[in-house]
Amino acid sequence: MLKLLVPCMIVNTLYDIKLTELKQRGIRGIAFDLDNTIIPWNSPDICPEVLVWLNNLAAQDFKLCFVSNNGKRRVRKIAEQCGVPFVARALKPSRSGFRQAAQTMELRPETVAVVGDQLFTDILGGNRLGMVTIWVKPLTTKEFIGTKVTRQLEKLAVHVLKVTGRL
Ligand SMILES: [Mg+2]
Repeated sequence: MLKLLVPCMIVNTLYDIKLTELKQRGIRGIAFDLDNTIIPWNSPDICPEVLVWLNNLAAQDFKLCFVSNNGKRRVRKIAEQCGVPFVARALKPSRSGFRQAAQTMELRPETVAVVGDQLFTDILGGNRLGMVTIWVKPLTTKEFIGTKVTRQLEKLAVHVLKVTGRL
């Protein structure tokens, strides 16, 4: 269980993701969490810089997909701004949403990277399917109340992982 919480890569911001390294690892598609990864929590709009960055990824032949536990209406609104397909109500860390994302991109799970801000949803779910998981710092400290609770667990998990030399 603990091993499944260990991200393959850790970055401060989206822009720190090393795209050439992903290519070298055979990654052809990226499944992004939405809230606090691509957009601040509960924000209705994507910022222009992120949009440019996403377009640049697509131009580099990466397939993209959003995987969010949030509802369809909100996820669709953001996905449409970016022209990126999406899986809403993904029930992360369940594997089904990530599997669906891989299918949407027509890729095998091991050629997909997952980018997200939460160990217990994004990283755990991606690792369970053998995807390359990238943990990014959350964009804001504002979060869903349920997330605030799992953040405490996340802190504890990070502590244990560090003490046991896994992080
Ligand atoms: Mg998130």
